[in-house]
Amino acid sequence: MSGLAEAKDEAERAALIEAGRLLFARPCAFFHAAQKTAELPPPGLPEVAFCGRSNVGKSSLINALTGQKGLARVSQTPGRTRQLNFFNLAHRLVLVDLPGYGYARASKDMQRDWQGVMFDYLRGRPNLLRVMLLLDARIETKSADRAAMDLLDAAAVAFQIVLTKADDVGPQRLFARIAEAEALARRHTAAHPLVLVTSSATGQGVPELRAEIAALAAPAAA
Ligand code: GDP
Repeated sequence: MSGLAEAKDEAERAALIEAGRLLFARPCAFFHAAQKTAELPPPGLPEVAFCGRSNVGKSSLINALTGQKGLARVSQTPGRTRQLNFFNLAHRLVLVDLPGYGYARASKDMQRDWQGVMFDYLRGRPNLLRVMLLLDARIETKSADRAAMDLLDAAAVAFQIVLTKADDVGPQRLFARIAEAEALARRHTAAHPLVLVTSSATGQGVPELRAEIAALAAPAAA
């Protein structure tokens, strides 16, 4: 099923939004964590992974999407945050919470993250349909973000840019950030052209993000 960018009219767009609402109204449950490549669960349902710099608002966004406060954090044992967490959504899709990258020592962190289990996962996952790459709307794109996009290009993993914390920037700044993100998307062969603008605080863009993800889900069992 195609997503919002392909919707021909308002009715098709509304149908996609409704499909997203219905999917995310279903239960979503943590079922697996992996710290090593050998611990990755066998590929099954379609997967959509979330990545971004530490503190970008990834946990908040996953919780807002699923309407389950604490879901993205509950599964993370303190001190073991560099793991990949897998959530089953209504037996139609798996959401994958990837470790945050590049907070303090960008290049070293990137090296460690992307050479390890995360890179193995991204390169070798046949059922990974899209990576949602989160960028903080309030701050400029960092070198770690650009490196992540280059690696996703190199690994030929389709990704979509999602701006977070849109509630916390003025309209002019937000407009500039959207334009910048769209330019980045045009420059990267693996990038989806539609940039999503979200806020976990206000719920802005959450229905649209649900719709994009629902378009990738396996059909509901009859
Ligand atoms: P993670 O490290 O990427 O999982 O980020 P978190 O979800 O833990 O959020 C990091 C910080 O950003 C926290 O202080 C959140 O309260 C804040 N935050 C997350 N989402 C939003 C948002 O939509 N708007 C605003 N203003 N702050 C947010």
